[in-house]
Amino acid sequence: MPDAVLVIEDEYKLRELVRSYLEREGFVVYSTGSGAEAIEIGRRGGVGLVVLDLGLPDVPGEEVARELRKSSDVPVLVLTAKSEERDRIAGFELGADDYVTKPFSPRELVLRAKALLRRGRNPAEPTGPTSFGGGELVIDEDLHRVWVRGEPVELTPTEWGVLTALARVPGRVYSRYELINLVRGYEFDGYERTMNSHIKNLRRKVELSVGKPRVIETVLGAGYRLGLGKDR
Ligand code: CA
Repeated sequence: MPDAVLVIEDEYKLRELVRSYLEREGFVVYSTGSGAEAIEIGRRGGVGLVVLDLGLPDVPGEEVARELRKSSDVPVLVLTAKSEERDRIAGFELGADDYVTKPFSPRELVLRAKALLRRGRNPAEPTGPTSFGGGELVIDEDLHRVWVRGEPVELTPTEWGVLTALARVPGRVYSRYELINLVRGYEFDGYERTMNSHIKNLRRKVELSVGKPRVIETVLGAGYRLGLGKDR
């Protein structure tokens, strides 16, 4: 199935132009002139690329991008009428993956859209380390390494599996059962009480105070979560 592209542009003629070029290339296109509707469509999922006009009448494009980013890391191609360098940089700060300045050639837009879709489908490029809690915890999945407060920490395969699972969505609570499923690839024996001892060992390596865990928090009756937010 071809990737769906969500086109958000309030100028009807421009929106239809972009739509027809993308459809000619075989893309399924959802289009809207409303930022609020775009956020709704984004939440439903199935969108492989967002083409976003920054100047929308109801919700500012920046806000739309931020909202879409909350539920997915779909690539965003920004259309901007603002050509000043400062605005371009602001565009990248809000998480735009690329931008074209109006007026643009639809052909160029299609080429850039294809490049972003290719990149989205092929996450083989190294992503670099991810930092949490203002650098308190740094995880580099490519290098398979973890640093806690600047010091490298050696983890067993199960501990690595648990920590990276919790770090997928910081703050989200994972039940023991979920964690067991997520780390199954790491030769985990599958018993819930064994999970408790893995958590205990992991805490000894990552917490300042094992008695007051802040990195791996217990949510009574529910499971565990990463207590540190992701740094940007
Ligand atoms: Ca506009």
